[in-house]
Formats: sequence, structure tokens, C-alpha cells
Amino acid sequence: MRPWNFSAGPSALPLEVLQQAAAEMTDWHGCGMSVMEMSHRGKQFMQIAQEAQADLRELLAVPDDYSVMFMQGGATAENAILPLNLMGRGGALKADYVLSGIWSNKSHKEAQRYGDAAVAASSGAAAVIDGVTQDPWTWFPEPEQWRIRADAAYLHLCGNETIGGVEFATWPDMATLGVPNVPLVVDASSHFLSRPIDFSKAALVYAGAQKNAGPAGVTMVLARRDLIGHALPACPSAFDYANVDGANSMFNTPPTYAMYIAGLVFKWIKRQGGVAALEKANIAKSQALYAYLDGSDFYLARVHPKVRSRMNAPFFLRDESLNGEFLAQAESAGLMQLKGHKSVGGMRASIYNALPMEGVQALISFMQEFERRHG
Ligand SMILES: *Cc1c(COP(=O)(O)O)cnc(C)c1O
Repeated sequence: MRPWNFSAGPSALPLEVLQQAAAEMTDWHGCGMSVMEMSHRGKQFMQIAQEAQADLRELLAVPDDYSVMFMQGGATAENAILPLNLMGRGGALKADYVLSGIWSNKSHKEAQRYGDAAVAASSGAAAVIDGVTQDPWTWFPEPEQWRIRADAAYLHLCGNETIGGVEFATWPDMATLGVPNVPLVVDASSHFLSRPIDFSKAALVYAGAQKNAGPAGVTMVLARRDLIGHALPACPSAFDYANVDGANSMFNTPPTYAMYIAGLVFKWIKRQGGVAALEKANIAKSQALYAYLDGSDFYLARVHPKVRSRMNAPFFLRDESLNGEFLAQAESAGLMQLKGHKSVGGMRASIYNALPMEGVQALISFMQEFERRHG
């Protein structure tokens, strides 16, 4: 059996997907070529790309007036591509950002290169919530308190802070917040396809593939079409949504192999019963893990329960001198890549779609046993 892989990204892919890719590696569907070796404009790859796009549309029920684009550069490049495409809309060169952890801070910093990127809200200070003091970046600011400028070209938030383990998934309705003309933009990189997306709330969603949807190298951008066509003159032509959308993600050579693998993941998700079925499994998996952490005096989860991520669970040993031993023994037990991000410390279990309940249970059993021996 393969070990359980808790990597935050690039992360575990479904074994079935890897096996199918292996079987098709040198000869895709009898055409005598690997997917890596075929023209992106040939009939074989056109079929792969069209199916991937159609499957993604179906899985997320993407409305017809949204474009589904496959781009390159990861979410980090998208942090620049986004303001380059949207900030000029309306002419104010303004955008507002909700800061909830490392990734949203990076997005905000990048946008400042292109215009007036302001902070609408931040969880970067400690806060008392329900009588409990929460550390910075372990809670989420209530939408009613966000300061959104009516002439902002968009409001940006990170749906799931991969490093801090903070997930904010009940996205607000911008009209209810009093700014119906400000589109909501979400970096959904690390919870993409783990739950449905409400497109009545989000005007643009982007996600690098390597957390939950495929290998590194392809970024999915789902954008309402009225947001396309406003790029600043400085926007590179390969990153202009109008060019990418206009050429159906074939403006230049797309990341063909990464798209092919992502397409296999989409088909795997369909076989699992779709995104709703995976959401159910993800709720069960994360609840099992957090319930165990909350019931233990040996471990500690610091994120406020209302915004705990279903995908990335940071946790701590109360006696941090045991960290090294914990990680070494976990690895011997076949539980890989549990070390927390250096900025947070402790441990982090990333339990994406491809990590089944069985893997979560293996982790909990190991943690119980470790606690029994050291507690
Ligand atoms: C991983 C991640 C990124 C950065 O992705 P790259 O592919 O390294 O550019 C950005 N945002 C979130 C939420 C992420 O999880």
C-alpha cells in the first residue's frame, strides 16, 4: 500500500488517475503518441481539452455567461494577472482586499504594483470572539465590517488559507453589503472542487491545480464574461483574459500534460458522485480530525471552529519538544508530509479530495497511540 500523503501542495492525486496516466503514457488511446508529444491544435489534444473544460463546467455548474480558462503561472501569477485585467475596469484603478493569512497578503501586495489596492478588512490582530481570544490569522472578519469602496474594481478574498487553515466559504452577496457593482473575486486554489461554488456571489474564481485538481502548471480561471476585455495596456498578451478566452485557452501553447491530468481528476470526481459527494466526505473527514483534536489535551487546534478549513488542518503538540519525534514516527507509520508551514510551526494535515477517510483514520490512530506513549 502507498503511504498516506498529507502534503499541502503539490499534493496527493487519486491513485486511479496516476495508474491511468501511466497506462497511457507512451500511447494515448492508440494514437501512438504520449499526450506530451502531441500538437495542442491536433484532434487528440483538442478532445482532451474540450472534455476537461466541459467536465469542469458540469462539476461546478458554471453558468453559461462565465468563461472557463486554463492558464499558466499558478495562483501567484494570477495575483498579478487579475489586477492587470480588472483594475482598469471603471477607470479608478482601485481594488479592495480582505486579508486573512499569508496568501491573501501576497495577493494584496502584488496588486499594489498596479494601482490603489486597499485593505477592506484584516484578521492580522488578535480578536476576542465568543469570549475567547483568537491569535492573528486564526479567525475571519465578519463581512458586515468590511470597508468596501463603491468604486473598487473588485473585492478580493482567499477562500481557503492553505497555510493558516482558515476557510471562508459562505461568500457574501455584494448587493447585501451595499456594493452591488463590486465583483467578488476569490482565490480558491486550495479548496477548489472540494465543495460547490455559488456563482451568484463570485464573479471570478481562480485556482492553481496542484492542491486539489491536478498537477502544478495549470491555473483554472472562471470569470464572468463582462469582466473580460478591460486589460491595462501593460498586461502581457498571453495573460489578457480577452485573448485567452477568445482563443478558448489556446492563445499560446497551454500546459497540455497538466490539463490532461486535471481532466482525468475531473472524471474521477464524476465517478465519486461529483462535488457534492466529495463535499460530504470532506465534512466527515475534517469533523473526525477536529473532533479528535478538540477532545485531546495533548494536541491543540488554534483556528476558530467557525472558519476551520476542511482541507488544511494545522495543529500543535502542546509539548513542542516532541515535534521531531512525532514527525519521524509518523513517517515510519506511512503518514507523510505532516510538518506545518514554517511561518505557523507545528503540524498540518492537508486532507484534500484524494485523501480518503481511511487516511484520516490512520492519522488519528497514530496520534492516539503517540499520545498514549507520551501523554
Ligand atoms: C498554493 C497557493 C497559492 C500559490 O500557488 P502557486 O502555484 O505557487 O503560485 C496561492 N493561493 C493559495 C490559496 C494557495 O494555496
